[in-house]
Amino acid sequence: ASTRDLLLSRIRDVADHPKPGIVFKDITPLLADPKAFTALTDALADLCGAYGATKVVGLEARGFILAAPVAVRAGLGFIPVRKAGKLPGATLSQSYELEYGTAEMEVHAEDLGEGDRVIVIDDVLATGGTAEASVELVRRAGAEVVGVAVLLELGFLDGRARLEPVLRGAPLEALLTF
Ligand code: IMP
Repeated sequence: ASTRDLLLSRIRDVADHPKPGIVFKDITPLLADPKAFTALTDALADLCGAYGATKVVGLEARGFILAAPVAVRAGLGFIPVRKAGKLPGATLSQSYELEYGTAEMEVHAEDLGEGDRVIVIDDVLATGGTAEASVELVRRAGAEVVGVAVLLELGFLDGRARLEPVLRGAPLEALLTF
């Protein structure tokens, strides 16, 4: 079967999580299957090469699980973008709108700079707010975003429509779309 079919077969729907009416896409079966996890890591590492990335940014928390092995496989540095208040050093912060209220992501200012070509990796693109804030952070740190890659895109939430204008032509790649 294709990589796509393998990955798809290892994503589980969990009804009513984190609240009633939401169908959560659970990637833990994929992480538990070394064949699927390796196929995912290889696919994302190939994108790093295709984009000419020099750094891999992963988004807390599930983005870390994907982006760290990708960085190792691609031979690139891994940079965490974290929820506010977690990183110990001097940070840049970017807040963004949620359905109710706001959230804030941070990066160590010294981890990225001019000349860095960054791929941003997360597990799921939903409304696109998290990815958008991360793209802004990378740019404010002085680096270039050469692409955003996710395992799966929830197409019905229109995150692509929100993110693409911000990306200014850089690719948004989803290995799977629902
Ligand atoms: P967004 O900012 O609305 O695009 O939400 C994306 C963030 O929420 C990502 O960091 C995902 O990890 C998380 N997320 C949203 N929906 C799901 C889901 O169904 N499964 C796993 N993670 C999700």
